Amino acid sequence: MPRFLLVAISLLLVAAPARAEWFYREEAIMGTRVAVELWSEDADLATRAMDAVIAEMRRTDELMSTYKPESQLSAVNAHAFERPVKVDPEIIDVVSRALEFSRLSDGAFDITYASVGYLYDYRAHQRPSAEQVAAALPGVDYRQVQVDRGGNTIRFLREGVRIDLGGIGKGHAVDRSIDTLRELGIEHAMVNAGGDTRLLGDRRGKPWIVGVRDPRNEGKMVTRLPLENEAISTSGDYERYFEEDGVRYHHILVPGTGDVARAVRSATIIGPDATLTDGLSTTVFVLGVERGMELVSRLPGVEAVIVDKDGRIFYSDGLAPPQ
Ligand code: ADP
Ligand code: MG
Repeated sequence: MPRFLLVAISLLLVAAPARAEWFYREEAIMGTRVAVELWSEDADLATRAMDAVIAEMRRTDELMSTYKPESQLSAVNAHAFERPVKVDPEIIDVVSRALEFSRLSDGAFDITYASVGYLYDYRAHQRPSAEQVAAALPGVDYRQVQVDRGGNTIRFLREGVRIDLGGIGKGHAVDRSIDTLRELGIEHAMVNAGGDTRLLGDRRGKPWIVGVRDPRNEGKMVTRLPLENEAISTSGDYERYFEEDGVRYHHILVPGTGDVARAVRSATIIGPDATLTDGLSTTVFVLGVERGMELVSRLPGVEAVIVDKDGRIFYSDGLAPPQ
């Protein structure tokens, strides 16, 4: 071996920090798979950082789950028509952001979808009758949710209103986790919760590569996107659903009608933070290709990949078609 190579190799060995490496952890939280991957030169710090992310996800779940009767959100749903219900400022932030998406999309995104949505039980393969939907539908209207930012309270202006943060909460939890990692001094990380991912920095000298899966074939990708310091979320009709007489009943509803949204199979949004990409992916899923892309084109720094109901793939203007 040439002498200069030997020198180069021994120099490398000396220069390499003790245990600099990628660390990875995965757990089941918020009804989904949560994963964190990060780079650290300090194994103890890496462990503390991953612990902090998992703790952050569990905390958000406790606060915002509607499956947990003791959560603050469950208290809102039980009492906010009788009186303003005091909640954590964090819930006020997420609900306010959700209401912004409602205004932006003319109600395609609406956390009060839950006034009808609660009648579905995907595990038990149960769905409401047309009569049940019609009776519950007046409760679907984001304008009936009143947020008092100073007093940190939420109030419903109408009986029968329920809210659920399933379309935006995971993105929020991912953003909080990335903030926590940054505070701990981590510079390269990926945090993922179900369909929502955010990337901190790059993958040390190269971008992260995030795949958009084929909605009808779990092992296949529609495209792969190189990303750094960005968030990406996908809403799909394959996440939570059951079939009845060949018809797929999944978890994203059209607020105006209470029906399952059927214009597309998946909507993927790329943008600066995961609360935004999570909320928008659900929004664009409801809006469909044309109105969805129109909304995306109005938002700076936001891109989209949509697979429509026939499997055709659409890219927003800022995304080069795949090679
Ligand atoms: P997931 O990652 O769980 O698939 P999505 O971001 O695709 O989440 O959002 C789906 C969730 O959004 C549903 O499970 C439900 O909680 C909520 N949701 C359904 N329809 C709407 C809607 N029209 N507006 C806001 N949220 C909705
Ligand atoms: Mg979403």
